[in-house]
Amino acid sequence: MIEGEWLGQKFAFFWSQDQRAWYALAGVDVEAPVGPSSLHITATLNGTGGGKVDLSRSIEIHEAYYNTGTLTVAPKFVAPDPKALARIKAEVELKEKVFAASAPQPLWSGDFRTPVHAAPTDSFGTRRTFNGQLASVHKGMDFRARPGTVVRAGNSGMVVLARRLYYEGNCVVIDHGLGLYTLSMHLSRIDVREGQRVTEGQRLGLSGATGRVTGPHLHWAVRWQNAYLDPAKLLQLDLDGLR
Ligand SMILES: [Zn+2]
Repeated sequence: MIEGEWLGQKFAFFWSQDQRAWYALAGVDVEAPVGPSSLHITATLNGTGGGKVDLSRSIEIHEAYYNTGTLTVAPKFVAPDPKALARIKAEVELKEKVFAASAPQPLWSGDFRTPVHAAPTDSFGTRRTFNGQLASVHKGMDFRARPGTVVRAGNSGMVVLARRLYYEGNCVVIDHGLGLYTLSMHLSRIDVREGQRVTEGQRLGLSGATGRVTGPHLHWAVRWQNAYLDPAKLLQLDLDGLR
């Protein structure tokens, strides 16, 4: 058995399909502090009376440089009224529940694929100011998808959220297991339901412009444990060898 812990998050290792190696996926949040970090890995050996081997190492987190931008959205998205604030609070709690209950084994297999046939933008990590008053970091990848473009599952998994939310608009969250999720936002239409298993490339719905947007696009986010990762990095990983 192998156990890992990094940046305060435990993570699980799994066998490659050919059972020749152990693998784990882990990532760094866009707002993680820069500097050295300790990746703790402990292997418990079979057949040696449970002897443990420490495979820990130091990992340097480097500074990354992202763009800044200003956006204008409807006022209700920067200064929500009390009714909207209550709804937002309930949705935060719902998402916390969803993100605390990932499957204990990988539900994905092989490479992650791009969710839509549309040009991605280099928007991850951008520091944005909404209407000159609300600052936020953009924690996903925006695709310039025309309204009504089919949005597909980036990999296999379980639909754990499929409903309309205040900021996200029509939103589909897929649990890929071991704390890894992909989120598709601002959809005009949802074609899956919560609790449904989906395969890679399966239609989730249509892109749109619901929620806090300046125009039609698909916002696609990758979450691992409590961190939002750069989707471009996940799409670049060669995972087919682990099938
Ligand atoms: Zn976005």
